[in-house]
Amino acid sequence: MLQQTQVQTVIPYFNAFIKKYPTLGKLSSTSEDEILAIWSGLGFYRRARNIFAAKEIIKTDYQNKFPKKLEQIISLPGIGKSTAGALMSLAFLEPQPILDGNVKRVISRLIKKDIATLKEKELWGLSEKLVNHEDCFSYTQGIMDLGATVCTQANPLCQTCPLNKDCKSAFSVKPQIKNKTAKAKMTIAMDLSLVLTNHSFLLAKNEESSIWHHLWIPFDDAIIAVHTSKLQLLKQERIRHELTHRSLNLLINIYISPKEFKIKTNQKYEWIKKDRIQAYGTPQPITKLMSQL
Ligand code: SF4
Repeated sequence: MLQQTQVQTVIPYFNAFIKKYPTLGKLSSTSEDEILAIWSGLGFYRRARNIFAAKEIIKTDYQNKFPKKLEQIISLPGIGKSTAGALMSLAFLEPQPILDGNVKRVISRLIKKDIATLKEKELWGLSEKLVNHEDCFSYTQGIMDLGATVCTQANPLCQTCPLNKDCKSAFSVKPQIKNKTAKAKMTIAMDLSLVLTNHSFLLAKNEESSIWHHLWIPFDDAIIAVHTSKLQLLKQERIRHELTHRSLNLLINIYISPKEFKIKTNQKYEWIKKDRIQAYGTPQPITKLMSQL
């Protein structure tokens, strides 16, 4: 959950997830839709799909017990060498190196080398040397927190850093002034039709992988266009929604239909009862829009 997402944003999602799925056993029979539903609004939905794929492998190959060998953990979807190292050190107290962006920065500053000139293999070697074999839990948690909160990218707090006696960059890193000219994001325009009856919403499962993969969203305008003679246009909504790397320009026609009807398409779709909509994974702007209807 914390990949590319701030702690404050993650907390309510983490708490809800752990409340619903406190054990692997509770997670094992859940559907991808249910996981996407509880993830709805957190973004980067690939992470939720990876959780589903990983727990399916754990169920089939490891009888619902989380694997304990590094190679087995790395082979699970969504888990790289660094995350696997953190899991081994923190959950199983088996010392393994980690190397996320924060740790890379701390290491490069400790030896006073430009991070861009260090090869990945070199960094892993240095990280391996740092691992504390007597207390890998405290070391792993400590170096991650140090990188995130003390030895920060823009303004390292060398004064309070416990490593300042040995660090070759201590008190010499220049604070960085943030570059305000943000890179322009690509804008994607989407014309959608949200059709509803008094009791349900018509949503389709999005199989396209560009954004909102496997979430439930309104049909493309073109699909609903052939049905508009029996629908009443309630209103049009223009929504600008920012994703991390893209901006979305949504134009959503909202139609009311006297009854549910069939759509000629191979795409999976459902008329979802309004009181069951929370059990489906829907993107944040669509969820918000539906809550107002
Ligand atoms: S002394 Fe300063 S530069 Fe060195 S690790 Fe600590 S915060 Fe980072």
